[in-house]
Amino acid sequence: MVLQSPAFNLKKENIFQEVMRRAGQREDVISLAVGDHPGPIDRVVLDELIEEALSSHKGYPPEEGTVLLKEWINQVFYQGQFSTEEIFISDGIKTDLFRLQTFFGPKVRSAYFAPGYPTYKEGCQIIGGEVTPIYLDPAADFIPKCKEIPSFDLFYLCSPNNPTAVALDVTQYKELFASQQLIIHDACYSPYIQTPGKPKTIFFTQQARARAIELGSFSKWAAFSGIRLSWAVIPKELTFSDGTSILRKYKSFLNATYNGVSWLSQRLGVAFLKRPELLDFEIKNTMRKTAKIRQIFEEGGFEVFGGVDCPYLVVRSDLDFLENFGILTLPLDAFDTHYQGFSRVSGFVGEKVLENITSRLQNCFKKL
Ligand code: PLP
Repeated sequence: MVLQSPAFNLKKENIFQEVMRRAGQREDVISLAVGDHPGPIDRVVLDELIEEALSSHKGYPPEEGTVLLKEWINQVFYQGQFSTEEIFISDGIKTDLFRLQTFFGPKVRSAYFAPGYPTYKEGCQIIGGEVTPIYLDPAADFIPKCKEIPSFDLFYLCSPNNPTAVALDVTQYKELFASQQLIIHDACYSPYIQTPGKPKTIFFTQQARARAIELGSFSKWAAFSGIRLSWAVIPKELTFSDGTSILRKYKSFLNATYNGVSWLSQRLGVAFLKRPELLDFEIKNTMRKTAKIRQIFEEGGFEVFGGVDCPYLVVRSDLDFLENFGILTLPLDAFDTHYQGFSRVSGFVGEKVLENITSRLQNCFKKL
């Protein structure tokens, strides 16, 4: 067999594996590199697992997800505006991104804001497609100039964005609707948005129904990154240019290639959504820790971006934080080589890490 797949051109390690390997060589390292929820999963949520295992758990789950979970997602995030047929339960946004890239195929002309989540680019490369980076400018606080973006068949939009933490406002969304054929909205961090008036879903307007697919995930605010649970909303109004329904075609594609998410994960999702106080607590608690980390860097004299609508900060500095402070961060040039001299700092930390980081950084910054 000849090595001919574009997948062979990928780097050996992804950016997260690369930084973790660096950290592994030092014992005193505190990591602010990875955007992973420190957990744990709430006990009351876990208790429902047993009930699920003893009651409805039976054989394969429905490929498209249980109606119960779809109904909860519809109520909690979309005020019931979708039918359950338009919501697909999945095992992660990362998987869904690649699934959609495979579904739409290599011929679509696509784009994304850079620096951005690596799968937008790498997934396209693997299927042999092309994707154009639209570079965000640090001098403009990484805020995209949506009006100036040329038209693409498909645009990957992440709001609030990883790594820059910028969330779009209503005007910026509308500018994208005007130029883009189809937007895949990665809403991984949307519940964290704090700025009044900034939409937490692309479906804040009916206009989006003929323009967008939204991907949501339980990973970042329910500590489900190890459980794997997410969803995709594909409105009925979406069509290919010949009028064919995207939803219909996607259903056939999904059913041919997927056997669904475990009953147990889906039941955990329902148990979490039933208790709005859990989501509220997670958002407030994580943003409190992010604000504290932001304050420490600012008091240390660093230029800091983000940290308001999403638990990520971008810190401008040429210092090697690992070398100088024993703090692991994610260099932005790992996302895209255009961005030298910036690091992504994550606010997804436990209380102990926050305590350690506070004393270590304050001490180190005093000596600078
Ligand atoms: N999208 C973005 C922007 C992310 O940052 C991440 C994880 O870091 C994902 C998707 C992956 O989410 P999931 O755990 O649902 O696959």
